[in-house]
Parts: sequence; structure tokens; C-alpha cells
Amino acid sequence: MTASPACPTCTTDPQRLFRPGPPAARPQVNSPEDAAALVVPLLEGRDREHCLLVTLDAKHRLLGVDTVSVGSVDHTFMAPREIFRDALAAGASALFLAHNHPSGDPAPSLDDRQVTRRLAQAGVTLGVDLLDHLVVGDPDWVSLARLGVL
Ligand SMILES: [Zn+2]
Repeated sequence: MTASPACPTCTTDPQRLFRPGPPAARPQVNSPEDAAALVVPLLEGRDREHCLLVTLDAKHRLLGVDTVSVGSVDHTFMAPREIFRDALAAGASALFLAHNHPSGDPAPSLDDRQVTRRLAQAGVTLGVDLLDHLVVGDPDWVSLARLGVL
């Protein structure tokens, strides 16, 4: 896939890092690797945890990448109401979540696993599929879906 570069107007809207453009021009995000290609460059070198939301249309084409929250060195907030507020506002049908571990160790915490399950359940209710949650360390990242959490 080809990732869209950050658009020129992003300087006035720092929370929204990509703009969807016409449907045919939206890159497809079909795998954890596709999502990682979008979020890893945005999370690299951060000294606090950031939670990013990758919103997708019904055909899993990119709508946007939004910052949900910025936390501390070992914690960030992944509240369903904030995540799904942004997802619904973007008109998303599916989403990927990602957050970084500044320690570099991508092993998901117990809290990461529990939050992910709760978010997936909320997504079922709202009709927005949580496709995966990536934990981004350095240099590796992990997919909670591939770990069987989703
Ligand atoms: Zn974590």
C-alpha cells in the first residue's frame, strides 16, 4: 500500500494526521503490517505513551489517523468513549488501535489485553469493528489479534 503523506493543512489540525481524499485514492489497510507502516513512524522516539486510532471505511480504506490520548511513560488512556467518539465522527466502519511502549518492550500488559477486549465488545455494539490493537516497542511491535486477544 502507499501511505498518504501528512497533508498541508495538518498544521492547523494536529490531531488529524491524514485526510481521506476520494475513495479510490485511499490506501487499503488490510493487515497489522499495513497499520504498523502508518503508526510506527508516528510513535517512534516518543518518551510518553501515545494512543493512535486508525479509522477505516467499509472497504478498510484509510480515513485518518487520530491521536486519542497522550499519557505518561508507562500508561495511556484508552477510554471507549473517546475512541468511539472519534471513530464515529470519522464515519469509520472499522479501526485499528495502536499505542507505544517507551521502554521498547512491546509485550502487552494485562491492562492492554483487558482494554482491548472491552473495546472490541463496544465495537460490536456500535457496528465498528476493532480489527487489531498494536503495541509498538522499539524495534518490534506486536499484534494483539495475532496473540489471540481479539
Ligand atoms: Zn501498553
